[in-house]
Amino acid sequence: MQQRSLGSLSVSLVGLGCNNFGGRIDLEATRKVVDAALDAGIQFFDTADVYGGGTSEELLGKALGERRSRVVIATKFGAPRSASDGLKRGSAAWVQRAVESSLRRLGTDYIDHYQLHFPDPEVPIEETLGALHLLVQAGKVREIGCSNFGSTRLFEAAERAEQGSLTPFRTVQNRFSLLHREPEAKVLPACEKLGMGLIPYFPLESGLLTGKYRRGEEIPEGTRLAAFPADQRGRFMSDDKLAAVERLAQYAEDHGHTLLELAISWLASCPVVTSVIAGATRPEQVHANAAGCGWELSASERNEIANLVGTGGE
Ligand code: NAP
Repeated sequence: MQQRSLGSLSVSLVGLGCNNFGGRIDLEATRKVVDAALDAGIQFFDTADVYGGGTSEELLGKALGERRSRVVIATKFGAPRSASDGLKRGSAAWVQRAVESSLRRLGTDYIDHYQLHFPDPEVPIEETLGALHLLVQAGKVREIGCSNFGSTRLFEAAERAEQGSLTPFRTVQNRFSLLHREPEAKVLPACEKLGMGLIPYFPLESGLLTGKYRRGEEIPEGTRLAAFPADQRGRFMSDDKLAAVERLAQYAEDHGHTLLELAISWLASCPVVTSVIAGATRPEQVHANAAGCGWELSASERNEIANLVGTGGE
């Protein structure tokens, strides 16, 4: 498994998104998924304090057990749905409280990568950065990142970090996939300029880019989108997207690969991407995803593929 740098850390090019833990899958199934990830060379795990209402962190910690020091754990704080007792999500007081809760749930005394889940427009970014910097100095956190940030906020945060001699955000975690290419316009160029990495979320569009959902066919039972209320499926699934999936699957087949390999390798071949944190509910998915980054795509092939799906914005 290739590694990429995340500040001072080294992470596997395919990571594991852990938002199914404690929600769609229980501890026993989480153990199997985590074991499969480690077997497949995945050592980067991305979770958040709000996933499964906190149980994702707990289950991840339990499943890793004594192997914790061999892996890189990324978690997040500051989602709008966090129970913050009236504190502002990006405030120093909330950061101090949230980190202790995450450390306890994960069963560890340090977090490798700590990310602000969503911007908090009510708190100056220098306050959040200042609180995170203290955590880095205290050894509770090794690197920091942000999520759901646009380019203006990225530049602002970088400037404030530099002015205050504070630890900068090393990565931004935003939705990015072959079917959602919004970051290409401004966020990717901002990352390049600032020397930051991009961690794409929903890299498989919740499973659409695995090819298991097909135009004109029933949604397979037991899948994530089958569990979604019908009126919320449009966020991932539409006639246009399913038609694009068909074109992508054909391209992959014509080149001797699968749609899954195309979806993961297309992201992995973007140098700014730090790690493709695909989620999974079963060990065989993890093994397939880990093997999915081996198709080396040139810049012209990446463009050719992107042209099959248009701009990919929503
Ligand atoms: P995803 O990676 O696009 O899709 C994951 C789902 O795809 C799995 O739950 C599984 O669905 C299916 N799948 C995965 N591998 C498969 C395979 N090889 N074959 C068939 N199906 C497969 O979506 P995600 O897990 O939501 O996103 C990745 C990670 O990004 C999350 O886990 C989370 O850590 C992070 N995230 C962050 C934010 C943010 O705001 N920062 C938002 C969303 C997600 P089934 O359930 O059908 O098995």
